Amino acid sequence: MDERKILIVEDEVKIAKALQLGLSESGYLVELAFDGIIGKKLFLSHSYDLVILDINLPGINGYELCTEIRKRDQHVPVIMLTAMNTTEDKIEGFDAGADDYMIKPFEFKELLVRIRALLKRTLNQQLPTGNILRVSDLEMNLDSKEVKRGDKKILLTAKEFQLLEYFMRNRNRVVSRADIAESVWGIDFDTQTNVIDVYVNYLRNKVDKGFSGRLIHTQVGMGYMLKEER
Ligand code: CA
Repeated sequence: MDERKILIVEDEVKIAKALQLGLSESGYLVELAFDGIIGKKLFLSHSYDLVILDINLPGINGYELCTEIRKRDQHVPVIMLTAMNTTEDKIEGFDAGADDYMIKPFEFKELLVRIRALLKRTLNQQLPTGNILRVSDLEMNLDSKEVKRGDKKILLTAKEFQLLEYFMRNRNRVVSRADIAESVWGIDFDTQTNVIDVYVNYLRNKVDKGFSGRLIHTQVGMGYMLKEER
């Protein structure tokens, strides 16, 4: 089975690292964010199988981050982790779209049981729609890696696929070349080259050319934006 990827957003570094260690030893791939803004950035540019969210976080808090996550993905399981344990706190968490709730201090074993249960649930959903990204008539299946516009299949290289996935996850938002470089090519990418523009043109030729309604738009001086033309 594939290693499942978990994002932990927790500002208490000791707790975050302990969780990372425990979950890695249990066979999961774990990424850490120590504040809400980094957590949001990571979530929007990568795909995760589960998110563990602290509530009191610098930047944006866990409730807000959970709401943001739900705007992009209705299905990824979210476990809230918190020292706040009133019923109101729990309701606020569930209202924001959390699937489960753990009160600190908690037993790691119990968290592990809940993670397994939530991941099993998503595995059992045959091809949940959370694995399909859609903008207008453009559809990307993250499992089968198939891309279609209307009924027409679009063949993409791995890099084109990653770039389009990034655009689709950030639809209706201007993304700068620096954002794209960092998320699609890695932090050390040399942004002085025009590689990004070249790839955007490759994508345009495949995704927009010959279809009605352009999706990939240039925002002069700022970057690019994927959106439905109205
Ligand atoms: Ca905290």
